[in-house]
This record gives sequence, C-alpha cells and structure tokens, in this order.
Amino acid sequence: MSTAPSKIEHYIDGAYVPSVSGATFTSLEPATNEPYLTVAAGGAEDVAAAVAAARRAFTEGPWPKMPAQQRAAILRKIADAIEKRDDQIATLECRDTGLPITQARGQAHRAAHNFRFFADVITTLGEDVYRVASSQLNYVLRKPVGVAGLITPWNTPFMLETWKLAPALAAGCPVVLKPAEWSPASAGLLPQIMEEAGLPTGVFNIVHGIGEEAGAALVAHPDVPVISFTGETTTGQIIMRNAADHLKTLSMELGGKSPLLVFDDADLDRALDAAVFGVFSLNGERCTASSRVLVQDTIYDEFVRRLAERASRVRVGAPDAPDTELGALVHPEHYARVMEYVQIGVDEGARLVAGGSRPEHLPAGNFLSATVFADVTPKMRIFQEEIFGPVVCVTPFSTEEEALELANNTRYGLAAYLWTNDLRRTHRLAQAIESGMLWVNSQNVRDLRTPFGGVKASGLGREGGKHSIDVYTESHIVHLATEDLPVPRFGA
Ligand code: NAD
Repeated sequence: MSTAPSKIEHYIDGAYVPSVSGATFTSLEPATNEPYLTVAAGGAEDVAAAVAAARRAFTEGPWPKMPAQQRAAILRKIADAIEKRDDQIATLECRDTGLPITQARGQAHRAAHNFRFFADVITTLGEDVYRVASSQLNYVLRKPVGVAGLITPWNTPFMLETWKLAPALAAGCPVVLKPAEWSPASAGLLPQIMEEAGLPTGVFNIVHGIGEEAGAALVAHPDVPVISFTGETTTGQIIMRNAADHLKTLSMELGGKSPLLVFDDADLDRALDAAVFGVFSLNGERCTASSRVLVQDTIYDEFVRRLAERASRVRVGAPDAPDTELGALVHPEHYARVMEYVQIGVDEGARLVAGGSRPEHLPAGNFLSATVFADVTPKMRIFQEEIFGPVVCVTPFSTEEEALELANNTRYGLAAYLWTNDLRRTHRLAQAIESGMLWVNSQNVRDLRTPFGGVKASGLGREGGKHSIDVYTESHIVHLATEDLPVPRFGA
C-alpha cells in the first residue's frame, strides 16, 4: 500500500509544524510491526500554541458567532471532502490499525455522515422559551463553551475523531484534537479536509503525541473548558482527577464488557450470527463488543458447539485482503496483552473451544484466531476485564434472575444485547440491565439522534444528537420582564 504519508506533523493555526522540542515517535504497521510513519510528539508547549490559536479563533474569529446555517454549510463541505477521500481514508486506516479493509470502508462513510448529521442537528435545534404568565419571558441562549479538547482512542480512529469534531464544530467551538498515538495516520488528512471546506484558520488544530504528555497537557490547560474523551476507564479516571482543578465539563466514553443474553425461545440462528459478529467484527477492538455471551442451559451445549465452529471459520488474514474478516491487532503491546488474557483464561480453568493462538499461515504481525472460552465463571478475570480483542467468554444460566445477575456482574455498563421472543421478559430486563444501551433481537445498529454512552465504569454523559451539542454548549438563561413587575423597595 502506498497512500500513507511517511511523516506527520501537528497542525496549529492553519500551519503544519513540528514539535517545539523536535521530538517524534514511530508508528508501526500492525500486519508486520515494521515502522512506517514518523509522527511529531507534542508536549505542553505545542498544546499551549494550539490552545492559544483556538482561543483566538473563539474570541476574535467568526466561527462561534456565525449563523448556524453558515456553519452547517461548511460542515457539509467537510463531509464532501471526506467522501472524496473515501478510499484513501479506508486504506490508511487499514494499514495503520490492522482493521480489515472492507470494515475500514464503512468507517469512512460514517465519518462523512457524522458531519452531515450534525449540520442538520444544528440547523433544526429548537430554542427553549418559557412564557411566565403574561409578564415575563424567559429564553435560553445556547452558547459555545469555548475551546474543546478532544482526546480519542486508536480503534476506528477516523470515525471516532469525527464523532467528536462534528458536534464540537457545529456548536461553534474551536477544537484541539489529540489523536491516539497508535493510529495517527488518518488524522493526518484532516487539515487538508478542513482547509478545502473553508473552515476559518485556527478553528481546527491537532497536536499528536503520547497521552501522558500531549493529552495530559490538554487536560491541564486552563483555557480548555471541555474535554471529550473516549478511551480506557483507567485513563478516564486520571483525566477526571486532572480536570478537577479547573472544574471542566467532561464527556467520557469508556470501556465495556457487554453481555449478549440468549434465551431458549430466541431465534437461535440469528442470535448466533449476532454473537459472532458482535465480538469478532472490528477485530474485537470495539467498545460495544459482545464479549460475554450468556446462554440458557437448555441450549448451552449446542450453542457453544455452533459458536466454536463458526469462530474457527472466521477468516483471519492480511488487513488489505478483501475476504479478511479478522485482521491484525493494533500494536504489539496490545497483542501481548490480549495473548496474556488468553493464557489467563486457560490458567483460570475456562474451556478453550476455538482459537487461542496465532494462525499458522500468519507468522508475523499481531494476528490471533477468533477465540472462544466456554464455562467461564464470574470470578474469572476474563469475565470481568475488558480484553478488547477477538476473545469471547461463554457462560451458562438457568433462570432469568440468574441471567440478570450475570449480566450486571461487572464494573462496566456500556451495551447489552438480548435475544428472546418473550415480550414481558424483554421489558423486565430492559428495566433491570445496567447498561447505557440495549439492543433486543438486533445487532448493534445506531441512529445518531439517540444518546450513546454507558453507566458505571463505562462512562459519564451521553453523546449523539442534541446530547452531543449539550457537551459543547452552555445554556444561558435570559429573564425578560415584559411589563413592570413589582420590585421590593428595600431602604425606601
Ligand atoms: P486509552 O485510554 O489508552 O487512550 C485514549 C486516548 O487517551 C489516547 O489518545 C491517549 O493518548 C490518551 N491518553 C492516555 N493517557 C492520557 C492522560 N493521562 N491524559 C490525557 N490523555 C491521555 O484508550 P485506547 O487504548 O486508545 O482505546 C481503547 C479503549 O477505548 C477501550 O477501553 C475501549 O472500550 C474504549 N472505547 C470506548 C468507546 C465508547 O464509546 N465508550 C469507544 C471506543 C473505544
């Protein structure tokens, strides 16, 4: 593949710049672990320059005050510019993250959709007006909050970057984006895209770098009142502590260990398809992965047998091959961590029924066969901890109560999937399952208007539709007397 630039710099105030310190880091290609990209490694000085540019764009530039229709027109041009680069984005993402090319293509389409969607949101958002009797009118001004700090993870990076960029820009906030250091390549295209669309200078800035340096500096900067973060729960906790000094608004999309419950009255063929797709698509590196499959004991043996059989047929291969279903995991460090979990599962006494090792035909790179552990119990670490790879745990239950207890028995609460044809049970479980989102007899499909996010250790707040706009705006209430109201006359 040849579309990756070999060098990526920061983009600050409309110009590509190296780090003030001159520091760089190297990005590896997951299919081979060969270095292929040199990236500027930002620190506090680079972040300060980017925030200063964004702050100027906020206080002096046209963007925050621009009528919504005009901002929306630029967002739509950004979508067009992304679409024009569809193949390039997908190819870069495939090379940079190890995602199968067919799945990387979907991400580029979705990125363009994110901008068109938020262009529509910002132009159709109603204003809140409260008429208090005939004497008083209250209305809410929605104001962009200021410079938005966006910190994103390495899984589906371009899509997730645009999932934050689109609403922040729609709301009128200039931004500083800190992409993940394991997948910086596709973000390198964003400056050209923004310029082509005519976004005013200084509104969009990127500082690349290591989380503990560039990311931490962005969180600590006093002129960044909002941080939207997607990543690991432990990182989210650190960010919360560091943001406390400035009482920043935080939106946190964190980790998950989502259950998929299969009752014996479900359509088992479809439940099986969903279980396989839910954990092995996107290399299993997916926050909403159905990584715990809970199956009613009456159908357990048969379901495990079929799941193992399907997993063993999932096509693991070169990310750029069109028939690959499972590509290379993002980084050798992450690969080592996932492989360690496989060993932990074996040591804990779970029954390995599929995968668990590197496929023989792929001697280099971060490849792991689709892996299924059966007879997993809640005490095991592989049941409790997010593995973030192509590894699924299967656990039997006998009653609905037991299924619920198992479903809720982790610290996470992002997504849940329920397969049953019992309507009353569906409503009972929908009330009781601890997750931000539940899909019933469905794979993970999204309407961008709906709130996305988790409970417990899976996050804080919601993104999606007007919920995202709420993250980047302040509500400013104006109380207006429309006739002379009595004012208590102290000291008269
Ligand atoms: P991560 O937490 O390691 O890194 C995420 C980002 O935070 C990176 O840009 C990183 O450089 C930065 N960072 C790291 N330390 C920082 C610090 N101290 N201060 C500021 N920034 C810092 O996460 P990851 O490994 O890149 O991504 C995988 C995780 O993301 C998984 O846990 C996954 O579930 C989660 N995720 C959640 C969602 C969701 O919507 N809930 C979506 C995608 C991924």
